[in-house]
Amino acid sequence: MEKIKRGLKTCRRCKTPIHENSLQDYCSRCYKVIEDVFDKIREYLRKYPGATAYEMEQRLEIPVHVINNFVKDGRLVEIPNGYLNIQCARCGCLLLSAHHKYCPSCEAEMRRGMQKATDELSNKITPVKDSGKMHLNHYLRKK
Ligand SMILES: [Zn+2]
Ligand SMILES: [Zn+2]
Repeated sequence: MEKIKRGLKTCRRCKTPIHENSLQDYCSRCYKVIEDVFDKIREYLRKYPGATAYEMEQRLEIPVHVINNFVKDGRLVEIPNGYLNIQCARCGCLLLSAHHKYCPSCEAEMRRGMQKATDELSNKITPVKDSGKMHLNHYLRKK
């Protein structure tokens, strides 16, 4: 391994000079930021083992190159993933995910749509007491 010259060690992220004996390649401030990002990734992978970098970019808003840096550092291991959805099943945007069929914005929209449908259903149909049958409200009012 090449010996690092005295005083020439700098933070890999912000280029601030750091102590040459520092175990990390980052200054303490950047180290904290990077650890926070890594915690998010770790949390996500615990929930979705085998998630892809693109998936994490979409879900966690962590740029792919940041995730790839962790791979380079050996903190993340890339594994071949044979069951990827290449496109969002709804809008067709690029989606490399082992766990999700839809992109985050489509998911949010579908959740809204589903909520709306449920609301409409519960507004229209009112169970009628003692009959055991369901009637639409406007039908009853006409009687
Ligand atoms: Zn730094
Ligand atoms: Zn979509």
